[in-house]
Amino acid sequence: MRTFSIEIEGLVQGVGFRPFIYKLASSMNLEGTVENLNTGVRVMISTRNGSKDKFIERIWSEAPGQSQVESVVVNEVGYTAYKGFSINKSNTLSQKVTRISPDIAVCEDCLNDMQTQGHRIKYPLINCTKCGPRFSIITGIPYDRPMTTMAGFEMCEKCHDEYDDVNDRRFHAQPVACNICGPRYSMTIDNFKVREINDIIHLAAKIIDEGGTIAVKGMGGYHMLCDASNAEAVISLRKAKGRDAKPFAVMCRDIESLEKIAIPGTEELEALQSWQRPVVIVKDGNILPSSVSGGLDTVGIIMPYMPFHYLLFRELKSSVIIFTSANLSDEPVITDDEEAFNKLNERVDAIVNYNRAIANRSDDSVGRLIAGKFRLTRRSRGFTPTPVSVDFIAEGIFGAGAELTNCFAVGKGKDIILSQHIGDLKNAASLEFYRQSYKRFAEIFRFIPELVARDMHPDYHSSVFAERMAEEKGITLTVVQHHHAHIACCMAENRLKRKVIGVVLDGVGLGDDGRIWGGEFMIADMHYYRRILHFDYVPVAGGNAVSYEPWRSGLSYAIHYLGQEEITGKLALAKQTGIQKSLLYTDLLEKKINTAIYSSAGRLFDAVAAITGLCLKAKYHAEAPMRLESVIDHRIDDHYNYCLNGEVISFGRAIQEIVSDVEKGISIGEISAKFHNCVSRAVIDGISYTRDISGINDVVISGGTFQNRYITERIINQLDEDGFNVYYNKNVPANDGGLALGQVAVAAARRNAGLI
Ligand code: ZN
Ligand code: ZN
Ligand code: FE
Repeated sequence: MRTFSIEIEGLVQGVGFRPFIYKLASSMNLEGTVENLNTGVRVMISTRNGSKDKFIERIWSEAPGQSQVESVVVNEVGYTAYKGFSINKSNTLSQKVTRISPDIAVCEDCLNDMQTQGHRIKYPLINCTKCGPRFSIITGIPYDRPMTTMAGFEMCEKCHDEYDDVNDRRFHAQPVACNICGPRYSMTIDNFKVREINDIIHLAAKIIDEGGTIAVKGMGGYHMLCDASNAEAVISLRKAKGRDAKPFAVMCRDIESLEKIAIPGTEELEALQSWQRPVVIVKDGNILPSSVSGGLDTVGIIMPYMPFHYLLFRELKSSVIIFTSANLSDEPVITDDEEAFNKLNERVDAIVNYNRAIANRSDDSVGRLIAGKFRLTRRSRGFTPTPVSVDFIAEGIFGAGAELTNCFAVGKGKDIILSQHIGDLKNAASLEFYRQSYKRFAEIFRFIPELVARDMHPDYHSSVFAERMAEEKGITLTVVQHHHAHIACCMAENRLKRKVIGVVLDGVGLGDDGRIWGGEFMIADMHYYRRILHFDYVPVAGGNAVSYEPWRSGLSYAIHYLGQEEITGKLALAKQTGIQKSLLYTDLLEKKINTAIYSSAGRLFDAVAAITGLCLKAKYHAEAPMRLESVIDHRIDDHYNYCLNGEVISFGRAIQEIVSDVEKGISIGEISAKFHNCVSRAVIDGISYTRDISGINDVVISGGTFQNRYITERIINQLDEDGFNVYYNKNVPANDGGLALGQVAVAAARRNAGLI
């Protein structure tokens, strides 16, 4: 007899891994133990014959669906005589940690049990080892019930039996619960409480069907719901949410009802039904009221993922409902029950919640299909805290992220863990969310910062937070240029090491010269970048107001390329803005008051959206470029002109041609197509030029503008044809939500090269 210790790392906790090992070992008549470590799972087996190798082979090939086995390390140890195979208590000694599972949509078996199991009939918090809440309920590690917000609920006898029975689907499912012992739903209508689940579902469905709105506590926060086909209900929900004007996501009862309102492709249907259940941006079928998606040609769709959603749809007449996070204006989504009552009770017709706390807030993740792959634009529930595995050591590095669309990141060994989507740190509540989340990450991942990376912009709240951390801990801080971080993010996700051509089309990011960059062509690797080309510099006045007031970019670009006199008499934009205001604006530019100089793609798109009259003021972030994309006339292959002069790509001619097309009354769809085609050509030519001077063939594209499907696909297709290797983000957003990953990667490269 010989004894082996087998240590398995990866996502192996909270996903039914120990029961899997138990069953596998038992079926092979192996004797030994299995236990959770901070780092993963350790199996001890004693065996007489060669079955150890077969056992390990089967661990790799038969591991449960949501788990990810990263490594299996086998060591022979001194012989121990075991009696049968058993599961040991968790070991919590080391500072290293294992992966924590993201939240998982309810599984088919549980939906079935909800109709058949005596103690779980219509139990809306049913779950098993394959499904249910994970990250959202975790307060510490290892992942065991006392370290979750289920800690206060004692299992009843039946649940306990299932929890202990290795042949049960709920064997060691930490949040296991039922109607007898688990957390319970309740509903508040005005100040009345409804506690019976049948009544709650019935009333919730009735309110929605009659045009009312309800707030419902979800997995990572509250949502607001109403009938999506009822235009009045949609408008009143918008009012209830405050200033919010963003497109709403809708939840569909099933695929059949989805296909009545939208035109999804195969890959989109796949993403919609994945266990992560993200919001998927799909081509709109123009059936729902236009107020749902704010006039865009797409609609965000999500499929039911909590048992409550399924129960609700069983009673609802409406088959498509608005499903939007419950937050007021730009604040983080509400998670606290008291806050929900205080903020929402007056605004909605009823509030539905349950008495288990949400430990970690998370929004619904969002993504869209670009160039044949589903790509995240907001990474949160279902994906956080799955790490990005890299091939370098990132231990102890904190990446603070940017300002808008913030996420931070922490390095653990060769894993980089991005936080859930935090939001705009200019908002005080979001900044508090950032601080709290960092604290929670430090706890659950036993993260001890050794090195801090921040954006070049010193005034970002994330930069201030990073500075303070470095000072308090007495550790090194390193500054990473914004667009270099975007390139590094895409390189890290794709495990690229050699020098690449990096193209970043983006909103704002401070450059080395104190100007605001965002149309950048670089030769870069992880610790180095050289700017080869950039979009032309144009001064825009207004400070922070610039990104929400595209008319400012419109006037700036028109004045810059045509002159004030030229536009005053002609340009509709100048008339719309008001002659007075436009002269005043010119004055600001001339005196350089509150004026910054931009090479940003974001500003260029804003300018065109304003000059064409499509969007003078944005009601939400990036509204102008999104609307510009959604009006493209896809039959048009023609393009405007640009010029490449030295290291500058100027769209002066394009702006002149657009002004003239606007005057001629050319349709906005045609103008938008010609503009998009022009930018695509400029990018492709810029990349070819960079290859000519450098001999580099690998291209990395990143930055917020590459969420534009039209441009990104056009560029990728052409680059493929021209023999480039093109890399783009997939599981990490190309926008600032992925920036912290790049910051950590750059800091790691600098540290590993001994530069800091
Ligand atoms: Zn389940
Ligand atoms: Zn129970
Ligand atoms: Fe950016």
